[in-house]
Amino acid sequence: MAGTLIDPNRISPDQEGARAPLYVARPLLPELSDLNALLEGVWATRIVTNEAALHNRLEAELSRLLRVPVAKLFSSGTSALQCAMLALDLPKGSEVITTPLTFPATAHAISACGLTPVFADIEPDTLTIDPRAVEAAITPRTAAVLGVHVYGTICDVDALEALCAAHDLRLLFDAAHAFYSQSGGRSVATMGDVSAFSLHATKLYNTVEGGLATTNDTDLAERLGLARNFGIESEERVSIVGMNGKMSELHAAVGLLNLDGLPAERAARKALRASYNSIVSRHFGLKTQALQVDVVHSEQYYLLRVDPQAFGASRDDLYEALKARKIFARKYFWPICTDYDCYRGMPIISLEKVAVADQVKSTLLCLPFHSGVTDAHVDVIAETIAST
Ligand SMILES: *Cc1c(COP(=O)(O)O)cnc(C)c1O
Repeated sequence: MAGTLIDPNRISPDQEGARAPLYVARPLLPELSDLNALLEGVWATRIVTNEAALHNRLEAELSRLLRVPVAKLFSSGTSALQCAMLALDLPKGSEVITTPLTFPATAHAISACGLTPVFADIEPDTLTIDPRAVEAAITPRTAAVLGVHVYGTICDVDALEALCAAHDLRLLFDAAHAFYSQSGGRSVATMGDVSAFSLHATKLYNTVEGGLATTNDTDLAERLGLARNFGIESEERVSIVGMNGKMSELHAAVGLLNLDGLPAERAARKALRASYNSIVSRHFGLKTQALQVDVVHSEQYYLLRVDPQAFGASRDDLYEALKARKIFARKYFWPICTDYDCYRGMPIISLEKVAVADQVKSTLLCLPFHSGVTDAHVDVIAETIAST
């Protein structure tokens, strides 16, 4: 029991029993004294939520940082996604085409808006939604496409934009893994009609719990604001169906302070990515995510792809071996959406006999990826991979 209280940085790698567990994520946090100082101002006014001063300051900062005209804060990435769909006013019962290889929130946000998720297959190299599968999934009831920049790999945005324009569909992105990312000099926050980010504690940039929706469209901005605040337009007028999707001043305070820590966190992860890449390059049967030229990586996740034949052990073998050494990787994303009780039996629209998503799902593992991963941890991970 006492072992879990020991600082992992002070333990040599051979003192295995005393080493603290290592998790896939560790939240970036500001100094507590800085947070208290900022909250003193909030306590003085007793205005603690409802789009108040720190919240508005953070929206302005994020709009500047992500180079997007509109940045609206939310209580979570899920509420940002739901409010994005409410704001777009997609017809009830219509279909939204998305990827099965994502976190449950993507598909659930569609369902919670009274819309039907339709799953389209992914590309084998990028693992992002395949525009050709999207095209095959379009029906007269399709209203929108929701792509996910999974593991920070950017979707084929040009092809999706062209397809949505040709079929008069709205285009959304779940950019929870792509905060701060750019492709061809273009900020991901400007892609499609609207992008939603999660600012959850497990994400690169966090407000403990929180979310963000970005758009170039100022009319949509107004509707996003209505959707997150019960559709209340004025004291005497409620205009659209909305929810409570607001971010509090406490969360905004953490967000404002975490902006300062973001560059160092990204730099640490970038260095860790290089260390992991060099381990992966030593093993036949292991690879990481596709390298995309001209993309500034968010540094949200490090993906390991295990080819069990070539590597000589499965993803699950490696997961267990790491776990035995208190290194907790995550089987992201396993199960995939079409394996959940609530979506089981729904097809993955694919050009292949067996959907790519089903072919790859048992080969994917996300390694611990944050500034708390030390050289000693990396050595243990390298040793474990070599001996599995
Ligand atoms: C984390 C995550 C979400 C959910 O965000 P919350 O802030 O936890 O609601 C949605 N989509 C993806 C891809 C995520 O990783």
